[in-house]
Amino acid sequence: MINATLKELSRHLTSGEVTSVELATQYLDRIKALNPALNAFITIDGEKTLEEARAADAARAAGEAGPLTGVPLAYKDIFCQEGWKTSCGSRMLDNFVAPYSAHVVERCRAAGMVTLGRTNMDEFAMGSSNENSYYGPVKNPWDFNAIPGGSSGGSAVAVAARLAPAALGTDTGGSIRQPASHCGVTGIKPTYGTVSRYGMVAFASSLDQGGPMAQTAEDCALLLNVIAGFDSHDSTSLERAPEDYTRSLEQPLTGLKVGLPREYFAEGLSEDVAQVVQSAIDTLRQLGAEVVEVSLPNTRLSIPAYYVIAPAEASSNLSRYDGVRYGHRAAEYSDLVDMYERTRAEGFGDEVKRRILVGTYVLSHGYYDAYYLKAQKIRRLIADDFRKAFERCDVILGPVAPTAAFDIGQLADDPVQMYLSDIYTLSINLAGLPGMSVPAGFAGNGRPVGLQIVGNYFSEAKMLNVAHQFQLATDWHARRPVL
Ligand code: GLN
Repeated sequence: MINATLKELSRHLTSGEVTSVELATQYLDRIKALNPALNAFITIDGEKTLEEARAADAARAAGEAGPLTGVPLAYKDIFCQEGWKTSCGSRMLDNFVAPYSAHVVERCRAAGMVTLGRTNMDEFAMGSSNENSYYGPVKNPWDFNAIPGGSSGGSAVAVAARLAPAALGTDTGGSIRQPASHCGVTGIKPTYGTVSRYGMVAFASSLDQGGPMAQTAEDCALLLNVIAGFDSHDSTSLERAPEDYTRSLEQPLTGLKVGLPREYFAEGLSEDVAQVVQSAIDTLRQLGAEVVEVSLPNTRLSIPAYYVIAPAEASSNLSRYDGVRYGHRAAEYSDLVDMYERTRAEGFGDEVKRRILVGTYVLSHGYYDAYYLKAQKIRRLIADDFRKAFERCDVILGPVAPTAAFDIGQLADDPVQMYLSDIYTLSINLAGLPGMSVPAGFAGNGRPVGLQIVGNYFSEAKMLNVAHQFQLATDWHARRPVL
């Protein structure tokens, strides 16, 4: 059961082969056994989980079950969930128990899904390696010396290590796709505005987007069906008719036009990753896809633009952590300003402080035009690059990250190198486009490598179709680390 997909679990629950309580118990036991080494979860609460599972079993018995009723799910610790500690990986929120639930959590709950626990992450979702968590680094189950990727590393590891059949993550500049790639799981960041940000702790509001991480594209589609949709509590939530993201999974890929951006296969891409991506492209070609070369000339500007815009928004969003209303407050202080300063000095880690400093600087009078405004202009150019590219193809393919997972500690003291590893993911967020990562092979050192699929706005069903057909033809997504 532990290796079953959501689709299979749904079937087993429907047939009565297993109950939700039995399923939850199996996962909780596995979490208990493996989490001390992996550190994928920040909070588990068996009693709460089992209570939800019992309610799901009762709903089934009463004939009120939907397809995912009773199926367990893990949440990145960034989604507020009523009654659960919601730390966002930070000391600042170590004592924060959410008084309400995020829109996506409400939706999963309404679908009858059972909470397995809250997964580890980089503090306030800032990072690419999960080394920035107040709760310590997460280990990659394929190789305990490797980073799992970030910032949704706990969610990726939970799925890869089969501590959960699926998990939710968030992606501001790659945080679903990059850990999915490094851990050999499937993850999708939807078009900006598709999934409500209400109750999702804010990092960079114009970029943040929640999404599913699971073993297969089909499971991601099932989860997206649950979490996507308009929410009046989020002013950037898009009011569109509901979609069934599974509707095109079975379509053949004959005639599919696949764009390969020249700039994604240039200097900086490791040989290992290039080979894996190339062989994935060959597979898609065999499935009937046609390859065209496209160009995204402003790709290299995505790093400076993102690392101005994201910190700018973060510095504003994180100003709410002042020690007054909730979260950490310094124990000793002389006056109000001293209380603010000590609270923030103690509550935030180094990377978060770095972003607040950069963000405050680029927004300050005299520098705003030179940095923030300029970055916004680049953002437009990047979106235009994609608009032009999508005139010639249906999806764009490329690597997710320049290398397979690096070692824990390898880039920890070199933030600029760390930022450079986001080169293939950031521009997708800057443009607001959907992107996904699909397991596509392994590097020479045995660490997983993902294929990135980027789609035009609202083409999630098409991307999931491409990923599903790829997964029918390959078994990379079904490989498991030995634990
Ligand atoms: N690595 C990027 C950053 O550190 C992206 C993080 C994310 O998507 N949350 O900001």
